Amino acid sequence: MKPTIVVQCGAGSKPEHKDGAETAGGAGYEILQSGGRAIDAIEYAISILEDDERFNAGSGSRMHLDGRIQMDAGIMDSDGNCGAIACIMNVKNPIQVARKVADGPHILLAGDGAIDFARKFGFQYYDPTTFRSVENLQKAKSKLKMGDLPKYAEKWKEFEEYWTETVGTVAVDKDGTFATGVSTGGAIYMLKGRVGDSPLIGCGFYADQSGAVCATGIGEDIMEKVLSKWVYDKIVAGESAQGACDLGVSLFEKHVPIGIVAISQDDYGVACNRDIAWWASAPKQSKKLKDEF
Ligand code: ASP
Repeated sequence: MKPTIVVQCGAGSKPEHKDGAETAGGAGYEILQSGGRAIDAIEYAISILEDDERFNAGSGSRMHLDGRIQMDAGIMDSDGNCGAIACIMNVKNPIQVARKVADGPHILLAGDGAIDFARKFGFQYYDPTTFRSVENLQKAKSKLKMGDLPKYAEKWKEFEEYWTETVGTVAVDKDGTFATGVSTGGAIYMLKGRVGDSPLIGCGFYADQSGAVCATGIGEDIMEKVLSKWVYDKIVAGESAQGACDLGVSLFEKHVPIGIVAISQDDYGVACNRDIAWWASAPKQSKKLKDEF
């Protein structure tokens, strides 16, 4: 197949941040072009996005309401490799820890166990806090206090517009192996211990023989619909990747920010009910990717 990678920077991310998606996607694409594996391209591209402080993953992640940064990430390919970490703290690149988990006996490690695992494999202490993380927490807290909450956050009773900037990618390599990965600092309003959709297989990400999918937006709503698997199943049932992404987004009311990126043997798709910065290594086409050997 024609190696292809698609990168997204989160539901609500600013289109002017597309350069970040392009830099990361371009680096991942080089791996694919030189015959590398889709999962390696995903890990590398997401690591670059995690190091870009404009995005809510790795450096620049959002803080939970107690001021801690607890990050989630997941990675998976259609060859059966799958690893994820939830509520991990003080590592630079959560996606690399998730990839390491994929090489071991477990699929998902959380909290202290995930941190111990990371240290055991040489991931050094790193503080991902940035000026923006602190500023965003202050804003979130003052909105909570004022009780001026958007509809999707009504359950909080006491929170504004939602912007996320979680990062995610899908890719296919020359052997036709599909892979996907996501990494996030989470949502705006989060209690300590909150885990979103991003490290949960089938919710924030999914890959198998027919394609790869990743999601962004309000984790709790994404989990309820097991969204990435839902979109994948539409592709299996004959939908184009673009059609499946559109259908996935249409499951949600407009006030819930949702974005989906998918790739299939025929095409790739990007759909979001907010602005979203994204980049793909191939132009959008009706022509089948698999025809492009
Ligand atoms: N889905 C992520 C979460 O709820 C946030 C995002 O996509 O921006 O943790």
